[in-house]
Amino acid sequence: MNAADAPTVDTHCPYCALQCGMGLRPTGAPEGPGVRVVERTAFPVNRGALCGKGRTAPELLAPGARLASPLVRDAATGELVPATWDAALDRVADGLRRTGAEHGRDAVGVFGGGGLTNEKAYALGKFARVALGTSQIDYNGRFCMSSAAAAHGKAFGLDRGLPFPLADVARTGCVILVGSNLAETMPPALRYLTELKENGGRLIVVDPRRTRTAEQADLHLAPRPGTDLALALGLLHLVVAEGRTDEEFIAARTGGWEEARAAAMAHWPEMVERITGIAVPQLREAVRLFCDAESSMVLTARGPEQQAKGTDTVGAWINLCLATGRAGRKLSGYGCLTGQGNGQGGREHGQKADQLPGYRKLDDPVARRHVAEVWDVDPDTLPGPGRSAYELLDALGGDIRALLLMGSNPVVSAPRAAHVEERIRSLDFLAVADVVLSETAALADVVLPVAQWAEETGTTTNLEGRVLLRRRALDPPPGVRTDLEVLSGLAARLDREKGFPTDPEEVFDELRRASAGGPADYSGITYERIAAEDGVFWPCPETDAAGRPGVHPGTPRLFLDRFATPDGRARFVPVAHRPAAEEPDEAFPVVLTTGRVLAQYQSGAQTRRVAELNAAEPGPFVQLHPRLAERLGIADGEPVAVVSRRGRAVAPARVTGTIRPDTVFMPFHWPGPGRANTLTNPALDPTSRMPEFKVCAVRVERVEQVERVG
Ligand code: SF4
Repeated sequence: MNAADAPTVDTHCPYCALQCGMGLRPTGAPEGPGVRVVERTAFPVNRGALCGKGRTAPELLAPGARLASPLVRDAATGELVPATWDAALDRVADGLRRTGAEHGRDAVGVFGGGGLTNEKAYALGKFARVALGTSQIDYNGRFCMSSAAAAHGKAFGLDRGLPFPLADVARTGCVILVGSNLAETMPPALRYLTELKENGGRLIVVDPRRTRTAEQADLHLAPRPGTDLALALGLLHLVVAEGRTDEEFIAARTGGWEEARAAAMAHWPEMVERITGIAVPQLREAVRLFCDAESSMVLTARGPEQQAKGTDTVGAWINLCLATGRAGRKLSGYGCLTGQGNGQGGREHGQKADQLPGYRKLDDPVARRHVAEVWDVDPDTLPGPGRSAYELLDALGGDIRALLLMGSNPVVSAPRAAHVEERIRSLDFLAVADVVLSETAALADVVLPVAQWAEETGTTTNLEGRVLLRRRALDPPPGVRTDLEVLSGLAARLDREKGFPTDPEEVFDELRRASAGGPADYSGITYERIAAEDGVFWPCPETDAAGRPGVHPGTPRLFLDRFATPDGRARFVPVAHRPAAEEPDEAFPVVLTTGRVLAQYQSGAQTRRVAELNAAEPGPFVQLHPRLAERLGIADGEPVAVVSRRGRAVAPARVTGTIRPDTVFMPFHWPGPGRANTLTNPALDPTSRMPEFKVCAVRVERVEQVERVG
């Protein structure tokens, strides 16, 4: 069969949580990636549309663009040199075992990623707790949407990013989009907002920058970074003052209103104007648009979530929905736009510090017994909850002496990154499984080259809670193994021969059993069903309401009859505004906020290696307002230094009137002198343990000529 006749393999993009459907067709060329992307218009979420990242994703499949064999650090030269798989796995197993024996099991850490498939996230959690016996496991998804997850749990009793399909967004009456730049982070999703407006709906965007997404808005609110909690409270205050609460809904379907109401009434509009910088008439206009519509939604993303008060901030937006009866009803509700490719599924199946598969709690004796039975171990041998991601990274070289890292690049993506890098360097032993030699992998004692999205089958769960199937379209290169093969090989060397299969479907079947009866119940989902139905929404138990096996339809819309709390009522959570962990002062008078750009993804380890993407956005920059630039004597394009209490970053200035004069913005995709996360503040939310990426105090300085040439 020649390439033109070869069947197209339906799969999904390796990058963000939209998980766009795409087809892969063999190129037939002996060189290059071996497949090319073709449209898959039948997949309902993106209907064939892809951004540049998805379209160019096969480039990294080409030999030469990726790691081709294991690397181990040579004791004599200190260099990473090629090794056989047996030698590399032996060395990893030896490093982990020896550390555990000498310093205790919790001296071994495991760090996962929100891009890992459900099968890998599940297997990694099991590997940590069963093969290593350590409690010290967490993952980079903690940096991504854990505040929304915590707020979901408090208010609704269940965390699923969107409790409705994305298509509902186009049919509601008004959307408040808080801290999301969809036009750059997931462009194919923008069309739901375009359709919303075509259908007569209204769009309010809350963002300190006038982004490409904010340009689409009927009303753009640009608060000072870190003040959107006050903004939500101010809007709720006006809702109450103007008599626009839905008393019937509040009485029938919620609890805790009086406390939340009292908290909101303490945030009167003029006070909120002073805190946020948003004029009272704009606040009133937002309330009018939101409440005049028959149905409305609030969607949040990293802006409100990546704060040391992220859980409360999301809670305040949820309170606004509940008070106006905009939750648990068709075309109304609150949702979180998850970021990473498997950000949703990755937080459900056990790589989180406090969690067992199926979104079960590690400190719940019933959950421990259920999962231990599936794993065929004594529940008493399962460790308890461990540390959150930043706390784990901060402990490296201290009581955590060895680390196995899979699918993450914290040297670029963690807050206070120079400190994290220093902690990683101080480890006794580091093993990294990755596709490329990322900045973190470059520090490892052993690097294990793993297969990519198009080379292995597995499931992901997109931002809607839709479980999807990525299919293997081609074989991995000879020197490369899958993550499941890596875990299986290591487990065998750690005397856990059984329980770590390499076949993804076998792992998924075990995951289904482990999740059965849990909040994120996948037990009724099979690979066949996903393929036939273009995804299945969880929860999907083994049996339907009539007790018939294998036919539960899944749950596209949650909470229509009851919320997932014990009494079925949503909970208002009383919250109050508080300042950011680090407010501007004389020494650091400007606010830094960070985020993503269209052509790059997360730490950039993959996208910086794709020529087209790199040409479009080749390096870091500092976005600042013309008034700030003029005051500091900085011209567009000149290098500028941004200094925080944690370090200094230098990048070219981009002078633009689309940002507040008191705020600068840096994308966080690059290592080196322009690394934005050198500056960011690791202050943690007390509930979600999410670091405050979105707000820190900095000063901005001209880079003098002598420094530029020196
Ligand atoms: Fe991939 Fe996200 Fe772009 Fe879709 S929007 S093609 S999932 S990166």
